[in-house]
Amino acid sequence: MDGRDAALAALFLDDLIADRPSWMADGLCREYPDVEFFPPRSAGSSAVAYAICERCLVRRECAVWAFARPDIRGIWGGTTFQSRGKARVAGLDVDELLDALDARRVRPPAPVAGPLCA
Ligand code: SF4
Repeated sequence: MDGRDAALAALFLDDLIADRPSWMADGLCREYPDVEFFPPRSAGSSAVAYAICERCLVRRECAVWAFARPDIRGIWGGTTFQSRGKARVAGLDVDELLDALDARRVRPPAPVAGPLCA
């Protein structure tokens, strides 16, 4: 890389960092560098990534950010490239998409009230 290329690369990096939204600093995924948030299609389920997003304090901001960028791939806010695309086609907004995804997730059964044994 010559001096001009290095200068252009530095400018690009500056732009990229300057455009980074502040909520990204609070992303729970930063604490899980080994979890794949950009899985190839063949990878199948990304249940661990979804579970992390579900507990993330900036999940909605993250999903909104990705929803506004149709070309961006990967798991953002617990949404996938495919789920965001289908939601756009269906005319859903981001909150409707998140609600639909939350409704589909399997939840543990609610605890049974009352004595467990006699
Ligand atoms: S919602 Fe998921 S992808 Fe987005 S910042 Fe949080 S953990 Fe990371």
